[in-house]
Amino acid sequence: MRYEGTVYRPPSEAESLLIQATIGCPHNKCTFCGMYRETKFRIRSVSDIKEDLQAARNYYGENVQSIFFPDGNTILMKTDQLVEILNYAQELFPFLKRMTVYGSAKYLKLKSSAELRRLKEAGLARIHSGMESGDDEVLRRINKGFTSSEMIEQGLKVKGAGIELSEYILIGIGGRERTQEHAIESARVLNAFTPDFVRLRTFVPLRGTPLYEDYQQGHFQLLSPHEALKETHLLVENLEGPFELLSDHYLNFAWVNGTIPEDKPQILELLKQRLCIPEDQFRQADSGSL
Ligand code: SF4
Repeated sequence: MRYEGTVYRPPSEAESLLIQATIGCPHNKCTFCGMYRETKFRIRSVSDIKEDLQAARNYYGENVQSIFFPDGNTILMKTDQLVEILNYAQELFPFLKRMTVYGSAKYLKLKSSAELRRLKEAGLARIHSGMESGDDEVLRRINKGFTSSEMIEQGLKVKGAGIELSEYILIGIGGRERTQEHAIESARVLNAFTPDFVRLRTFVPLRGTPLYEDYQQGHFQLLSPHEALKETHLLVENLEGPFELLSDHYLNFAWVNGTIPEDKPQILELLKQRLCIPEDQFRQADSGSL
């Protein structure tokens, strides 16, 4: 297997075989994101990807159970090419349970329902999608490349094709100024298309990104630990589901996991308990800045 640059994957793909299908991100404009800033986007050739799959088969044997195809927005690849790769992986690994890619609403728009169904039939089980916020003003400020109504439309389309959807919400990405709107609007949008998984990560400014500059210059106010917990509480209060809520990221101030709506009371209670802990006992809110 050959890898270029830093390879990122969702926490839930920690056990998966990683085979790069794209290098970098075709959008590469989100103001908070530093993952592929210096990388020129390109799609790898199908023959190179197949060679890497074959190398993995030679190395690990046939018992691979899940594959994630980085980098950013691999869903952008031509459907025929993706289908060819997915089919090839199924031939090599007969016990495969799951193949997944990243795909934001901006690129999901490029796929018809019929194409998504073809991908599902070829083995694409789940799409990891960075929604970050449901508040249109926040989405505009962070330059996410889609609106909340586009997110709902694309989410419903993916689910209609039978592909699981894992959505990522960035706690604190609206700053102090938009914390209420960010929480309430994110809940509204998630309730409208009910992804299978909602995963929470807490925003920290990354050096080298436009949002880090805004933060340094005082144009963006980072939430304190208690403010981040209150924002999470407001979000959860407004979630109706049904979906799984997870916070499988080390930057979060509370480890909230459960099914919405069944586990909502316990999750809200846990958040209240975390709010009783003095703020200075949490990590500094911006300690993750690099
Ligand atoms: S779409 Fe994803 S990978 Fe691309 S710039 Fe935005 S957050 Fe980063």
